[in-house]
Amino acid sequence: MLKLYNTLSRKKETFYPIEKWVVRLYTCGPTVYDFAHIGNFRSYIFGDLLKRYLKYLGYKVIHVMNITDVDDKTIAGARDNNLPLHQFTDKYIEAFLKDIKILNIQEPDFMPRATEHLDEMIKIIKVLLDKGFAYKKDGSVYFRISSFPKYGELSQIPIADSKTSRLADSDEYGKENVADFALWKLKKENEPYWDTEIGAGRPGWHIECSAMSMKYLGETFDVHAGGNDLIFPHHENEIAQSESFSGKKFVNFWLHCSHLIVNGEKMSKSKGNFYTLRDLLSMGFDPMDIRFLLISTHYRNVLNFTFESLNQANASLKRIKDFLYEIDTKKFPEGENPEIKEIINKAKNKFEKGLNDDLNISIALTAIFESITEIYKFINFNHLFEEDKKNIKNFLSSINNVLGILPEKSIHELPEHIISKIKEREEARKKKDFEKADAIRDELFSMGIILEDAKDGVRWKIIKKEDLYL
Ligand code: AMP
Ligand code: ZN
Repeated sequence: MLKLYNTLSRKKETFYPIEKWVVRLYTCGPTVYDFAHIGNFRSYIFGDLLKRYLKYLGYKVIHVMNITDVDDKTIAGARDNNLPLHQFTDKYIEAFLKDIKILNIQEPDFMPRATEHLDEMIKIIKVLLDKGFAYKKDGSVYFRISSFPKYGELSQIPIADSKTSRLADSDEYGKENVADFALWKLKKENEPYWDTEIGAGRPGWHIECSAMSMKYLGETFDVHAGGNDLIFPHHENEIAQSESFSGKKFVNFWLHCSHLIVNGEKMSKSKGNFYTLRDLLSMGFDPMDIRFLLISTHYRNVLNFTFESLNQANASLKRIKDFLYEIDTKKFPEGENPEIKEIINKAKNKFEKGLNDDLNISIALTAIFESITEIYKFINFNHLFEEDKKNIKNFLSSINNVLGILPEKSIHELPEHIISKIKEREEARKKKDFEKADAIRDELFSMGIILEDAKDGVRWKIIKKEDLYL
């Protein structure tokens, strides 16, 4: 039974979706004015782990992630670069899609863009105006939080406290209450705007997530996730406007991940203490090591980023890859050892028990490493057989569907001509014909296959999957 910590109740609750075996999931996506940093990716990888585990449990998952392609930052970026808004944001949308592919984050089923959902937003705002939940002031439209008694339930911040200055944009003067938030912002000079029934202007950030989530997932859906900096005001506001609009509960489970920090401070663009994926790749780090690092701390714990921890992630992942290589490349005697099945079952149960407990990744990973240690003993004493190898590989492949940290193909699944090239290079190395060995290495590299020479043989990995010529 899966239990998830629901921010709304501040408790771990047994997870049931509204529709049997179908989960409707919304995760807040990027604001596309720059490259995402690995702090952002911690949030997206957490969403990915959740989604992959739900699928592992047999659920069909419908996943929506918005793209914020109009807000103060995107508008400022487009202006500074002398580009139309779309042209400016397209570059970062493309980069984001590439980054998530490199990090093995499964693409959401829907990635709606704010600028393509103006009609849906206007429809909600009109209903809120009609019902008295919103009011117009100087060409903008604001949500009246005093009309929504549950305001503050998610963040547990009383309305009185929420009247802090950080809520009030400088251009939002004249509101009835300083904590009221903008649904629609009056057009400003030299800024993109839309001519609509409620006036000329552009949408506020919060309304976009309400409009796009309800469009693709319905007025009540199962899970809404994001970083915990979004609890207030973003998610609090989403609840207020969505529930006032529909008269129904908006979301059953609110899940939030903690931050990635550097030297005790949140990694963020404004602090300038951030690394993008590109930064780390250009320093020679492997994307799967980065993924492993981001996934291996429980999502509700703060993750302190250091290069040492990235090297540790590399070493941990190498242990799994070495093990896989060992059993993949060895031929074992025909037959089966029932003890191996037991080890696998034990590991599988522990893996599931861990993840069922609010995605306790430490227990899940321990289960894997313990089973590897145990199975090595059987290999060393020649008590491992071909059938065991198959079972072990199936087990590792099923857990990798959840973690997404290993290459999808094993060496034997590479096409014959590539395997024979790898063997040819091995032969050349043995004969100390390094010129030939290097030439083959370069040829394979151009096909997207990187070879790594290890003590016990050669390992390989695929880069640039999309360009791979096989
Ligand atoms: P933004 O592009 O700033 O709107 O953020 C996109 C997502 O990344 C949101 O879900 C944020 O909560 C999350 N996020 C931003 N910074 C961090 C961080 N340092 N650690 C974890 N998540 C973060
Ligand atoms: Zn959002």
